Amino acid sequence: MQYEAVIGLEIHAQLLTETKIFCGCSTKFGSDPNTQTCPVCIGMPGVLPVMNRKAIEYVVRTGLSTNCEIPLLSRFARKNYFYPDLPKGYQISQFEMPLCGEGFVDIIVEGDHRKIGLTRIHLEEDAGKNIHAEHGNESFVDLNRAGVPLMEIVSEPDIRTSKEAVEFVKKLRAIVRYIGVCDGNMDQGSLRCDANVSVRPVGEKELGTKAEIKNMNSFRFIEKALDYEIKRQIKALRDGERIIQETRLWNTDKGITESMRSKEEAHDYRYFPDPDLMPIELEQSWIDGVRGGIVELPDTKRERFISDYNLPEQDADLLTSEQSMADWFEQAVDLGGDSRSVSNWIKGEMSRLLNDDNKLIEDCTITPGLLVGMLSLIDKGTISGKIAKTVFEKMYRTGKEAAVIVEEKGLVQMSDESGIEAIVDDILSKSPGEIERFKGGDAKLMGFFVGQVMKETKGKANPKIVNELLRKKLK
Ligand code: ADP
Ligand code: ZN
Ligand code: MG
Repeated sequence: MQYEAVIGLEIHAQLLTETKIFCGCSTKFGSDPNTQTCPVCIGMPGVLPVMNRKAIEYVVRTGLSTNCEIPLLSRFARKNYFYPDLPKGYQISQFEMPLCGEGFVDIIVEGDHRKIGLTRIHLEEDAGKNIHAEHGNESFVDLNRAGVPLMEIVSEPDIRTSKEAVEFVKKLRAIVRYIGVCDGNMDQGSLRCDANVSVRPVGEKELGTKAEIKNMNSFRFIEKALDYEIKRQIKALRDGERIIQETRLWNTDKGITESMRSKEEAHDYRYFPDPDLMPIELEQSWIDGVRGGIVELPDTKRERFISDYNLPEQDADLLTSEQSMADWFEQAVDLGGDSRSVSNWIKGEMSRLLNDDNKLIEDCTITPGLLVGMLSLIDKGTISGKIAKTVFEKMYRTGKEAAVIVEEKGLVQMSDESGIEAIVDDILSKSPGEIERFKGGDAKLMGFFVGQVMKETKGKANPKIVNELLRKKLK
């Protein structure tokens, strides 16, 4: 029997508000423990929460960017449970009346377009963080994160493979970053993802029993954890076992998911409307205003890049994955850079150098103007494409203009035919054996001759002239 996987994701995104959801404490990451707290966010008795207007706006902005219905009325609820990082004994969240209703996002996986439904998006407060001492058995609680606004995006069980799940999270991450509501940082935990997974025989309409997987804090781990879990469940069913509804943790070291708690141990959260907060009543005109302020989103930009700049789909995918990269690209094109060349340099050398340094394009020393300056040197024949790579890296390290680097390092392309011819003759006179084999039909040796000339001229010989000369002389 063939099985298919059914996956629904719950994504938690910390909102980029300056202050917490119900008090004025800072949301800055990485400060000393408990330095960003007050009676409200440490849950003292008698205090009252005051709603952060920006947090509401950010969730609505996200809903509008993901085709969600925005109801005019929504409400906050208390989710009751006991845990040391939750000083009030309840989390203020949303239950029956979330800020955003049904929506969807489009993803492309291996060329296939898929529409993934969203069930809802709601707003809640984050909890604190337990810190367990590495030695001894002490534990500590840091409440800096308690009360940071957290948005939860819940998908329909529309996802079928681990790759689709990764694309879905990537797309949502790109959207929240574009619209400036979350920094999308997965290793600092500002974007976290839980996955609900079940399997069923292909053709079956009913859903199987699901397991919820937690603790996957990178795209790679999401893919690995889901692949592992799908295989585990299919094997269990083939072996005649039943899947139990449970929460499982991804164990990075072992590369497996492990049972954390079963449904029987699950909480009854006793949700009820929070009596300290008024229901949220939105005005349609306010929602329209939020909609009007939304920037061009990744999908729209991608389509425009393909049609306006005549780019291959993969180039458009990469360039629009980050708004800063898309902006950089467009600035270079506006300054006269050829769109394909600009894209190729971003995809190739630029990405390689930035990756090595773990930097983003906005921190790059090469500005769009510097790249366009270098491209014009290539066009004019001043430098070869090969030398350009050296110049590009020097530009990256120093921020100097290409023309200055070329001048300083004497990298101007050698296009003087008689000069190159002398070197070609010299190489040929030293390679009688190779010439014989070449004439005997070993065409690959052309590369050897070109390589020798390039080595001799430190890559500066104009490759077109080198090739012409060699072809003429080896006839
Ligand atoms: P719970 O009551 O356990 O919170 P929900 O029905 O609220 O479950 O769904 C939570 C998430 O799990 C959603 O993303 C949903 O799409 C997904 N989901 C629900 N049932 C299944 C299933 N049988 N298989 C896979 N995912 C599921
Ligand atoms: Zn506070
Ligand atoms: Mg639920």
